[in-house]
Amino acid sequence: MSHEDISYRYQSDGNRRSSRRTLRWQILSIAAVGTLGFFVFLAVMLGESKDNADLLKEIRDTRYPVQENLLTALNELETIDSNLEHAFISSNSALLDHSMILAAQFRGHLHRAMILEDDYHERINKILSQFDEYFTNSHALVQSVISNQTEFADTTSTKQKNAHAFNLLIDALGGLQTSQSEALVSSVDAATLRASESLRVGLTTGIFTAFMLFMIALITTRSILQRINNMVSSLRQIAVGNGDMSERIELTGSDEMTELAFWFNTFIEKLQRITAESTAEVKRLAFTDTLTNLPNRRMFLRCLNNEIERAKTKPGTSIAVMFLDLDNFKPVNDQLGHEAGDELLRAVSQRLVRTVRNTDTVSLETDEPPVGEPVVARLAGDEFMLIVTDIEDEKQAAKIAERIRAAVMDPYVISGMECSVGVSIGICLYPHNSQDAEDLVISADMAMYEAKNQGKNTYRFFDPELRKASEVKILLDNAIKKAIPNGELHLMFQPQFRLSDGKLVGAEALLRWEHPELGTYAPDDFIRQAEANGKICELDDWVLEAVIDQMQIWENKNLQPLQVALNFSAAQASRPSLALTVDRIAGNNKHLLQNLEIEITETSAIDNIDVVESNLKALKAMDIKIAMDDFGAGHSSLTLLTRCEIDTLKIDKGVTREIKTDPKSRAVVQAIIDLAAKLKVNTVAEGIEDEAQSQALASMNCDVGQGYYYSKPLSAAELTQFLIDNSETIDKAA
Ligand code: C2E
Ligand code: CA
Ligand code: CA
Repeated sequence: MSHEDISYRYQSDGNRRSSRRTLRWQILSIAAVGTLGFFVFLAVMLGESKDNADLLKEIRDTRYPVQENLLTALNELETIDSNLEHAFISSNSALLDHSMILAAQFRGHLHRAMILEDDYHERINKILSQFDEYFTNSHALVQSVISNQTEFADTTSTKQKNAHAFNLLIDALGGLQTSQSEALVSSVDAATLRASESLRVGLTTGIFTAFMLFMIALITTRSILQRINNMVSSLRQIAVGNGDMSERIELTGSDEMTELAFWFNTFIEKLQRITAESTAEVKRLAFTDTLTNLPNRRMFLRCLNNEIERAKTKPGTSIAVMFLDLDNFKPVNDQLGHEAGDELLRAVSQRLVRTVRNTDTVSLETDEPPVGEPVVARLAGDEFMLIVTDIEDEKQAAKIAERIRAAVMDPYVISGMECSVGVSIGICLYPHNSQDAEDLVISADMAMYEAKNQGKNTYRFFDPELRKASEVKILLDNAIKKAIPNGELHLMFQPQFRLSDGKLVGAEALLRWEHPELGTYAPDDFIRQAEANGKICELDDWVLEAVIDQMQIWENKNLQPLQVALNFSAAQASRPSLALTVDRIAGNNKHLLQNLEIEITETSAIDNIDVVESNLKALKAMDIKIAMDDFGAGHSSLTLLTRCEIDTLKIDKGVTREIKTDPKSRAVVQAIIDLAAKLKVNTVAEGIEDEAQSQALASMNCDVGQGYYYSKPLSAAELTQFLIDNSETIDKAA
């Protein structure tokens, strides 16, 4: 469901309830039911307790006093009767008088009972009138007997009448007292019943209220918590689960919880969209070269694999894989700046695309590799790769390569400046050369190197011989890395002689590598390889250490100290920590450094002139001498001579060779020697192979000579023997 769908559904629900209201309503219900229950309970209990109280009051205020009065009256009646009887028998007038008091008391008690109990009004009145009659008669009889007005014998019938009246009275009063007792018992029973009834009502109301509260709380919890739980479980799934964001909360209600669920759904949807977009962007970046928007190496390999799969289903078709490397890109980059370099790379990439795809679109819209179309990719720097599909033969591939070369060569206007570059192209064919994508790329790369070696700005097809050469290179590469730990290196020393008197003035240390299988390797071959694989500084360090060790051996043998020159590669000369390294290697033999001369070539100095200059200064501060090697062979920049404090100029062996035959070379050498003399710099001519060269250089005032004419490079043992044998013809080192 899309964001709009949810939004529509949600907002279209006009009379939505508010869950805040629902919740409030539910809480109010709980409170109302609770309060109502409480009041009902209270009212019932109050009512019940009032009734109970009334009942108890009635018992206490009426029933008991009535009962008491009646009982007292009954006792009094009996006492009155027995008083009258005793007064009659014993003619006791005191007892007769006392009976009068008791009669008054009796009447009082009955009156009180009558007042307390309305119901007994009639019955008590009747008893009172019966009593009055009985008492009057009985009293009168006893009175007349005491006053002797009546004879005992005449009393019998009256006495009987009175006894009868007394019995009736007793019965009436006893009956009343019995009814009163019964009423009292029934009142107490009613009170007890009421008490248990109110307890039952109270309990019922309490249980009912508790049940209602529980139900409402349950409904509230379910309606709100259930939905919150749903959201929590969805969030947990996104956060710690598999990141699946497909789940949505169902929007069933129309309250705030639904609103929350709606925004929750919207949020998850947005998050899902952003995640999808950024994933796509990450994918795009993973497969695109950001500078040119072309596919990168990874994408190129995917494309190539796809094309190979496709070609497998169409036998007879070939794919051309081309490796392109721009010629002279570095100078443009260095001179015009990196931004201009980037602009040039973009311009080249557009030309490449247009040349092979007949379209201007360069960018890669998706991370899906195009199929069946030419692909242009940028690997790194000024390296590009091409896939051209459905190639019929080498000729067709060659034509395309030629077209590309021509297109790239057309001048560019970059930052308002016209510039041009060339391109070296290596071509490799599927399935002819290889059926593996990685292998095709490596083969095209080898072919490109061959094109470079053949003078650049041209194309070359891959040749299996190239692979052999490259395999040897790899073998060599690995072997060099083990040369030091395997102890396969040693030094040769080529002596140097002063031309004016032929005295030995020094020697140049030259590195030799004796591989158990590859044999002896000439430095020219393996030094270049060591420079390429970054092992060169380690080799140069090893040479320095070996030279110092050798000087120490000579010192220990008490031989004349000899100046030894050693060669530093460009990498070593521009190494930021060079002085520290030399200092560390010299260790306790720093005094030997004064007999050391470091040879650097002009080219190694030119590339990193600032670092080299400060390194040379530091070496000079350690008493080490500096020689400029192969002078005259390169650009022979004079600024180097002024910027760096050079002790020696070594005239290149190529130049030395020429002086016999070429008068111009002679003039150059003479100029170099004169210049050196003016700058107070020593000159050493290397590569002197015969006497004529030796004499010519001597006549031109060259200071020192080195070459096969005097001596081939000697082993340490040979040179040591030479030093012992010719101690008197050796010039003590400065
Ligand atoms: P380089 O510094 O110009 O060394 C002189 C090279 O000329 C040496 O070759 C030496 O054997 C050779 N040579 C000497 N006399 C003659 C001669 O009369 N005629 C001819 N044609 N050649 C002569 P090597 O030993 O093969 O060294 C070649 C290059 O290798 C050296 O050229 C130097 O650039 C480099 N190299 C040698 N040893 C080292 C080293 O320890 N470290 C570094 N970084 N480079 C070294
Ligand atoms: Ca040298
Ligand atoms: Ca040299």
